[in-house]
Amino acid sequence: MLKISADEIASVIQNEIANFESQIDVREVGTVLEVGDGIARVHGLTGVSAGEMVEFPGGIIGLAFNLEESSVGVIILGDYLKINEGDQVKALGTLLSVPVGDAVVGRVIDPLGNPLDGKGPVVSSETRPVEVIAPGVAERKPVHEPMQTGIKAVDAMTPVGRGQRELIIGDRKTGKTSIAIDAIINQKDSGVKCFYVAVGQKDSSIASVVRELTERGAMSYTTVIVSGASTPAPLQYIAPYAGTAMAEYFMWKGQHCLVVYDDLSKQAQAYRELSLLMRRPPGREAYPGDVFYCHSRLLERSAKLSDALGAGSITSLPIIETLEGEVSAYIPTNVISITDGQIYLQPDLFFSGVRPAMNAGISVSRVGGAAQVKAMKNVAGGLRLDLAAFRELEAFAQLGTDLDAMTQARLDRGYRMVELLKQNQYVPLNVVDQIMVIFAGTRGYLDTVPVSAVRKWEEGFLDFIHNKKKEVWDLVDQHKNDGDAMKKNDHPATKAVMDAIDEFNRSFRP
Ligand code: ATP
Ligand code: MG
Repeated sequence: MLKISADEIASVIQNEIANFESQIDVREVGTVLEVGDGIARVHGLTGVSAGEMVEFPGGIIGLAFNLEESSVGVIILGDYLKINEGDQVKALGTLLSVPVGDAVVGRVIDPLGNPLDGKGPVVSSETRPVEVIAPGVAERKPVHEPMQTGIKAVDAMTPVGRGQRELIIGDRKTGKTSIAIDAIINQKDSGVKCFYVAVGQKDSSIASVVRELTERGAMSYTTVIVSGASTPAPLQYIAPYAGTAMAEYFMWKGQHCLVVYDDLSKQAQAYRELSLLMRRPPGREAYPGDVFYCHSRLLERSAKLSDALGAGSITSLPIIETLEGEVSAYIPTNVISITDGQIYLQPDLFFSGVRPAMNAGISVSRVGGAAQVKAMKNVAGGLRLDLAAFRELEAFAQLGTDLDAMTQARLDRGYRMVELLKQNQYVPLNVVDQIMVIFAGTRGYLDTVPVSAVRKWEEGFLDFIHNKKKEVWDLVDQHKNDGDAMKKNDHPATKAVMDAIDEFNRSFRP
């Protein structure tokens, strides 16, 4: 017979209470020595570890950043004006975490997951630490599926694969953000979740990004993480890690994500600001010595997971702003060396109307070729080098020398290819469309079309294919991964496209 005395019950309850108290036990309490500019120096908290969360009165969260002998430097992730000298600070014993999961999709939030879109709180049952160690080599597999950006110049010449990190680099106002936004818009119906992390951008720029994404139906699968120019440096510094944590949730569930960091120059500046305030010794360009680690540990988290781990991926498009095209400055060289390639945007191309203003000569994708659609590889294989050679030839031709017929022909082809690779914003092209128009260009079908009419030709031709030759489009789509498609003339897809171009050209009037 089971017999429990009142005493026993009481002792059990007492025990529970004692344990419960130790569970919620605040490990340590300290006091604020000084506060300002988004940071606080705290006395006490001797057992706190770097990266641990602390709490100020009023629930303001901070992050232990600098562990010194007699004090702890804390970066404040909230309104530091509400914190005063002498305030108590509690160490929470956990790493900084953010809400993740479906609840953040379609939302505009700050780096801590607080809503900024007026659509109510972000209710999520799951959180993930903002900083985690990136998957190791054994947990990964090589990049092999394409991440189509819908931008002809990028998909043809610097193809991006899922799990890759492709840097977008250029001076201010050269179309960097536009490339990333088009890539996000192009993920519609692909199942890829997108994360746009705005760091140090003007609020008006962020608002226009959100508006464009909404208008083009891209917000349904996108999260915008905002830390604008007016946001304190601590939040600008952690925003990229927070966005990555949100993407990782989906990657570990076997899904695919695209993360845009716009831009990492501003994050580096925020980190420099914090480090200088913490009196860490400044190094090159006054950045702290570990600013490389700041970017490398972030970008290492972009990955293609192995099949055993679900084969999910995070592709990232970090953005770096250069000054006067200076790619050999400290932060640009760091990030160039961390990423798997770069899309270099050049101001003089941009102003002469070549948009996207990609410099084919120094733009490169080191791993994306393995992921490129075969038919695209076949039509665009030599394009990047041809264009780079064309630019040199063009500079030479401007000297006014007489050119032989061969050189003139190469120049003529080059002018037409440059025209053909121009593309307006917000009109990402399906890869099948891209394959057909680039095929026409590289095979010389446009050599007789006046340069000024090339874009009109492209528009008319795609119209013709979509409305009158759907079967040709379908055929290319079906065969786009054949090794011979668009390479061998007797391949059915190649044949069909050549016939379609001939037919269209008979009626095309420039
Ligand atoms: P910032 O330095 O301000 O971040 P950015 O390099 O990100 O600038 P964007 O904001 O993307 O550049 O583009 C600058 C301007 O160029 C914008 O007005 C944009 O509309 C225009 N633009 C960008 N790409 C194209 C394009 N392919 N065709 C036409 N206009 C474009
Ligand atoms: Mg921009």
